[in-house]
Amino acid sequence: MVNILVSACLLGLNCKYSGGNNINERIVELKNRYNLIPVCPEQLGGLATPRNPAEICKGLILDSQGKDVTEYFKKGAMETLALARLFNCPIAILKSKSPSCGINRVYDGTFEGRLISGMGMTARLLKESGITVMCDEDI
Ligand code: SF4
Repeated sequence: MVNILVSACLLGLNCKYSGGNNINERIVELKNRYNLIPVCPEQLGGLATPRNPAEICKGLILDSQGKDVTEYFKKGAMETLALARLFNCPIAILKSKSPSCGINRVYDGTFEGRLISGMGMTARLLKESGITVMCDEDI
């Protein structure tokens, strides 16, 4: 079976910043046809759960208290890529809108719920590394 990297929150793991998850039963069901490898880049980068929400702002990633957490996100992206390579994953299914996992749109950095075109840091690194990235909303 093909190995597919999946944002862990989509599989029901409570790794979201709030301590909850974003379970998506359509994606969970894919486990019957594929080996799903759950990853949470923000936890892999060393951030705690729960944690403050973060958004991309002028090339940096800041949390809602104004703390620069860019280095955690970079580390998480690198660790996620390492797992993708370790398990030979040709595809990653990632959670929309996240500053790590978002593919088509991300929040605009104001913490006011506005979306703009853009990619999360991990999604971008995986794509640039030749992995096909798919958004949960398209599954
Ligand atoms: S970093 Fe990705 S996997 Fe982790 S909680 Fe956020 S969207 Fe889900």
